[in-house]
Amino acid sequence: MRRRVFQVPDGAPLVGSIAFGLIDRGTNLIQVRPSSYCPMSCIFCSTDAGPKSRWRQAEYLVDLEPLIDSFKDIVRFKGEHRIEAHIDTVGDPFTYPRIVDLVQALSEVKGVNVISVQTHGPLLNEHLLDELSEAGLSRINLSIDALDPELARKLAGNEWYDVERVMELARYIVENTRIDLLIAPVWVPTINDSEMPKIIRFAIEIGAGKRWPPLGIQKYEAHRRGRRPPKVRAMRWREFYAQLRRWEREFGVKQILRRSDFGIHKRPALPIEHQVGEKLWVRVIGPGWLKGEVIAVERRRPRRIITVVGVNPEEVPPETIMRVEIIRNKHNIYLARPTP
Ligand code: SF4
Repeated sequence: MRRRVFQVPDGAPLVGSIAFGLIDRGTNLIQVRPSSYCPMSCIFCSTDAGPKSRWRQAEYLVDLEPLIDSFKDIVRFKGEHRIEAHIDTVGDPFTYPRIVDLVQALSEVKGVNVISVQTHGPLLNEHLLDELSEAGLSRINLSIDALDPELARKLAGNEWYDVERVMELARYIVENTRIDLLIAPVWVPTINDSEMPKIIRFAIEIGAGKRWPPLGIQKYEAHRRGRRPPKVRAMRWREFYAQLRRWEREFGVKQILRRSDFGIHKRPALPIEHQVGEKLWVRVIGPGWLKGEVIAVERRRPRRIITVVGVNPEEVPPETIMRVEIIRNKHNIYLARPTP
């Protein structure tokens, strides 16, 4: 399905949305989301990304300069030391046309000592990896969910994904760049169980993880508006960790990761600007990420993006002024619904 790409307007706040901008969860890690699109359509995707998305109605692009300015403000607030900029996005970060410039600009921000990125790698190539290394990228969390090419395509939800090429690039990262590599498969029970030991062996064989652990197996979770493979049940955390422990013993490689393995620690969180239950007037500025949503800002003092749910975007076009009630504000990500 074709979706509209929405260029986030200059001057809009860049905190408040899950789909773009910056997210602060009260640690020294700041999530950086410059774009939302993904070319893949993984069958387990928690964010329902890619061409086969059923729930998304818009994709976002954020200009580099305002993104960096807002990022610097947050770093100053949190303390200009040991900050990790984690480019994770609700799609693939390499869809951002200025990804190398972004890494370069983040690396020049006072206090940033780690820049990491999360991807399945479909848009990587050797030249881009060289440029990212040069620009100061510290780590790639690369999700390889199966080494078997056919199964990998099935998991990717398309016919063109070439896991052997991604494996070649994984080797390239280790052998030819200064970027650290963490292999981060998503374990989807009953679908890729037998691939996990193979992926662990592969990560060990190529020498992933010099500065950080080589592996970070991720647990599949069923999300309401994510994609859910039929008949797959999410594992219990207890079962998941028990199996990771067995693999730790079998392969002699750390599998159970803690925030401290990545130097992540608590830091002051940005102030919450709107409380749950608060009613306010907002100005619509664009389409919401998902169907039935628009994004808006407080009419007089736009400090955060507010996603208004339960609306027909055609009935509330940009510049509409409407009254809403905040229904969620966790981590400064705001949801609201129309109210009289
Ligand atoms: S899991 Fe990642 S790579 Fe796959 S569709 Fe979702 S965002 Fe894209």
